[in-house]
This record gives sequence, C-alpha cells and structure tokens, in this order.
Amino acid sequence: MSKATLLCPSCKKVVPMEAAVRPPAFPFCSDRCKLSDLGRWFEEDYALPQPLGPDDHEAIEEVIRARQGDS
Ligand SMILES: [Zn+2]
Repeated sequence: MSKATLLCPSCKKVVPMEAAVRPPAFPFCSDRCKLSDLGRWFEEDYALPQPLGPDDHEAIEEVIRARQGDS
C-alpha cells in the first residue's frame, strides 16, 4: 500500500495525496464522486435511529448547498 495515494471513497479509483497533484475534490477523485458519496451519506442519515445533533444539521446544509451549487 502506497502512502502517497488513497482510494476514492466513492469509485475506489487511486487518488494522489500530494498537495501539488491532488484533485480539488480530495479525498475523492472528482466532484462527481464527492457529491455522489455525500448524497448517499445524506440519504442513509435519514435511517439513523438517533436524532441529529447541531453538527449534523450543519453538515447536511453544507451538502445541500454543495449539491445546489453544482447544478
Ligand atoms: Zn471517484
């Protein structure tokens, strides 16, 4: 396992970690993977049995803003 790369959490493609070459959507390989992964997390979050905390609401609002801003 190389310490200079990691796998995109969404598509498992190798993503470079070095600052000079890492993609803007790091740790994802692309904006598409970043939004797709956050969207999946967002949907799954509805199924959690415990109530959301203030931090969760902030994170969800960030996801919503990011998804609206992309289109
Ligand atoms: Zn990817």
